Amino acid sequence: MSTDLARQTAPCADLPVPLLDVSRSNEAIREQILDAVVRVIDSGRFVLGPDVDELEKAVAAICEVKHAVGCASGSDALLLALMAINVGAGDEVIVPSFTFFATSSAVWRLGARPVFVDIEPRTFNMDPQSVRSAITPATKAIIPVHLFGLCAEMSPLRKLSEQHGIHLVEDAAQAIGAKYDGQMAGNLGQVGCFSFYPTKNLGGFGDGGMLTTSSDALARRFRLLRGHGMHPRYTHDVVGINSRLDSIQAAVLNVKLRQLGSWNAARQRNARRYTELFEGVGLEKQVVLPQNENHCEHVWNQYTIRIPAGRREALRDYLRERNVGTEIYYPIPLHRQKCFQSLEISTGSLPETERAAKEVLSLPIFPELLEAEQQVVVGHIRQFFDTRPS
Ligand SMILES: *Cc1c(COP(=O)(O)O)cnc(C)c1O
Repeated sequence: MSTDLARQTAPCADLPVPLLDVSRSNEAIREQILDAVVRVIDSGRFVLGPDVDELEKAVAAICEVKHAVGCASGSDALLLALMAINVGAGDEVIVPSFTFFATSSAVWRLGARPVFVDIEPRTFNMDPQSVRSAITPATKAIIPVHLFGLCAEMSPLRKLSEQHGIHLVEDAAQAIGAKYDGQMAGNLGQVGCFSFYPTKNLGGFGDGGMLTTSSDALARRFRLLRGHGMHPRYTHDVVGINSRLDSIQAAVLNVKLRQLGSWNAARQRNARRYTELFEGVGLEKQVVLPQNENHCEHVWNQYTIRIPAGRREALRDYLRERNVGTEIYYPIPLHRQKCFQSLEISTGSLPETERAAKEVLSLPIFPELLEAEQQVVVGHIRQFFDTRPS
């Protein structure tokens, strides 16, 4: 019997379970990746080039958009998106507070004001009702985040964007391959922003990012702005930034991209397994499971449960002592960060965001996670509540 099979049939309570083990997915395609990297080294061409062109075409095809433009990171994709639509001083951009920092820093760095709105507790995503109330004559854009791999509720947001002439920029960093009403993430607003940071569903060997759009004019702007606004050579009509994608990253990502469909399917299978395993242990009151929306295809960048009643920290410590990796995405809402103090947002103004920050706990969900490992995770959580009733 192979060792993998042995582990699957005989779950063992002291088996360590990492939050993420990227080496398992790299192992299977190691030779192909090495070949691709060697090819780039031998080509002597390290910034943009044919590997980046190939990746841009492939991502445009996946997202069902006309153009994809590579850049240095997901954070830069957000920055370039806002630069391209001329966000600047005096403008407001509506963003969720329950997200990664980069969603808001792009707004701030351009001198505009991030306007934080609350989330829907069930999906963790931007609440369209709060967005509606946050719109003012100064609103220039809305950035819905497809948090944890589940698309934000785009239909009402699109209506608001059309009614008020506001740009809709998707932060799809965690959602490559996700769908909303049959349509791909990255094709749900005017611009989609993706990240190839190693923890994302398509992760490189370093930083990388991509913008998607079906507008020819915006795609041209992105290409101009990512290269210092230079066109033609040494001629600058606008000030851009240096944010290009490395050829080596693109070469690695082109190999990995072939697996994206099966990796996302494996994440979905793992999410279903957790649901089944949790249903078998009767913790409905202690553990709130994440939901998939019927009209969405969730790609599970994270599997995030809620532990209400102030027990999360104790559970996390308990799991850490048993070598089960977990993470809190995100412990401090953005509207409560010191760097945004001058916005003077009162504590308690976004109650669902603040509650989520206290309750969420992300469990291992990476594609190669074994059923036996999931049994261990759920087994420890069950034991925690059995042996430590509050
Ligand atoms: C990862 C991430 C980003 C930033 O991407 P980087 O490539 O790390 O710069 C932005 N927004 C969200 C929601 C993310 O998860």
